[in-house]
Amino acid sequence: MFSYRHAFHAGSHADVLKHAMLIAIVRHLTQKEAALMVVDTHAGAGLYRLDSDFSGTSGEAADGVVKLFAALAPAGKARPLIAEPVPMLQDYLETIAGFNPDGQLKIYPGSPFIVQSLLRQDARDKLKLFEMHPTDSKALAANIAQLQAGRQVAVARADGFEGMKAFLPPPSRRGLVLIDPSYEIKSDYAKVSASIQDALKRFVTGTYVVWYPVIPRPEAHDLPRRLKTLANQAGKSWLHATLAIGQDEARNVPGEADRGQGLTASGMFVINPPHTLRAALQAALPQLLQVLGRGKGQGQTLEAGA
Ligand code: SAM
Repeated sequence: MFSYRHAFHAGSHADVLKHAMLIAIVRHLTQKEAALMVVDTHAGAGLYRLDSDFSGTSGEAADGVVKLFAALAPAGKARPLIAEPVPMLQDYLETIAGFNPDGQLKIYPGSPFIVQSLLRQDARDKLKLFEMHPTDSKALAANIAQLQAGRQVAVARADGFEGMKAFLPPPSRRGLVLIDPSYEIKSDYAKVSASIQDALKRFVTGTYVVWYPVIPRPEAHDLPRRLKTLANQAGKSWLHATLAIGQDEARNVPGEADRGQGLTASGMFVINPPHTLRAALQAALPQLLQVLGRGKGQGQTLEAGA
């Protein structure tokens, strides 16, 4: 169960979509005075080196954040592929750049660090992190300790599906839950929908963000459908975005073993999204595809429910 290490995938196209949306959502939720509680049920290690052995092995950042930086923020180099990143991507680039003050893209922040950097530093907002992997939870705790964020951030080496329940509803009734499992075990899909069903009973006005891989597996296909049904039954609005970067033809060598396309597509499902998110995605998804699209099968979708 513990074979998944997010370091292999840090900065991938899936992380770009997930984190660009996460930033837009947290920005919106922190505009109101009231305290915000963010629960990250599957937190990962928190910080990743893009030049480490792990991230270098699969090179997924090369098809994600690295490509985006080269195309949109080439800092004094050739003309950018796209002159003006849309606001959602500009904000994403600036947030990631904030973790790389010398201008070289070496560090990739995971969801805990991205969220923490956006919370109000007067300690009114809280961040609850769950990570079960023994090594990653230790790394996460050590990384978070460096922030000296005190009681604003809590790390638990525990099951996030179970652990999130204790925080719903938050005292301020303003909360965001990110559910971002690795789905290496099939039961994760059912646990996500069961957790959302339970969470909506506890705290129907919370904002819920679910990441999932778009892969040819019935459970993956069913998950967004189940989430739509749950949101509709609760009478809550939702947004569903997918980004497929398609096949890299150079990796399809006839007669040779598959060199691996990696994960080619992912989706984000948001219940009770900020009202500004749909328009922001309508602008950002085509630009993301323009930069990250690799070929056959590439595409993006955006659908919304009232
Ligand atoms: N949310 C992170 C980010 O965006 O930077 C990435 C998380 S990664 C996709 C999923 C993580 O969940 C892995 O680090 C894995 O060890 C951890 N994990 C798996 N099952 C878990 C569970 N039931 N509760 C908490 N963490 C779990």
